[in-house]
Parts: sequence; structure tokens; C-alpha cells
Amino acid sequence: MKTPYSKPLPVIGERDRAYWEGLREGEVRLLACDDCGHVRYESFSTCPGCGGGRSSRFKASGRGTLWSWARFHKAYFPGFAAEMPYVVAVVALEEGPKVYSNLVETDDVPPLGTPLEAVFEDVAPDVTLLKFRPMRPRNGTDA
Ligand SMILES: [Zn+2]
Repeated sequence: MKTPYSKPLPVIGERDRAYWEGLREGEVRLLACDDCGHVRYESFSTCPGCGGGRSSRFKASGRGTLWSWARFHKAYFPGFAAEMPYVVAVVALEEGPKVYSNLVETDDVPPLGTPLEAVFEDVAPDVTLLKFRPMRPRNGTDA
């Protein structure tokens, strides 16, 4: 077992439980409006695009691009102290929504627009965090 997780954990509610269960199973699950197709990340009760109340959850690609980032030099929570400074990234998912996350498996912050892919990090019995790493080449030609 790893040492206990010492950073803040999300409070999982009924409305976003399916999202967190998806991460637990290695999937990014988003909501798409049944009326206009607008894709959202949290389960708002109505669509911010058209106000419609019907939506369907679907498995997203897990891919996105680096949209913005900031490097934190102050440990606002003690659990982050050992990692100072650390980077918080905003990732634009392929389907549209943007999520706050951290970059892993990279020492430097890549340029904005860099393709990223999801990494699922189990941190507590019922919490898996969505993180991102630079997309790996898939065709093997540049090995
Ligand atoms: Zn809509």
C-alpha cells in the first residue's frame, strides 16, 4: 500500500457520482444534451446550451489538448508541499468541455495545444483522479 493520500479529495454527490464511477473504471464519462448535442462535464440538471432537461451520458475519448496552465509556488494545502512548485493545467477535451487537472509523465510543461491523453490515478478507495500525459505516438515509426 502507498502512504495515505494527503491532498484534498472531492465530495462525490448523487449528481456527479456517474462521472466519478467512470474514472474509477478508466473512462471519462460526459453528458450530451439530447436536444442540441451540447456536451458538458458536470451533470447540471439543465443544458447550458439550450436549457433542455434531457441528456445522455457517454464515454468520451479521453483525449484533449493543453489549453492553459499555471505553476503554483505556494502550498495552499499541506499535502502539496513535497511537490512544490507544481503545475495545474486546464485541458480542453476533444468533446469540448475544459477540465482542471495535472500533467504526469512529463518533466516540462509542453506548449499550449499539445495533444494529451487521460491517465487515471487511484488515490482513495472511491476516488480516481483524471490526469493527463502528452499523447504517445501510436504507430511506432519514431521508436
Ligand atoms: Zn441542449
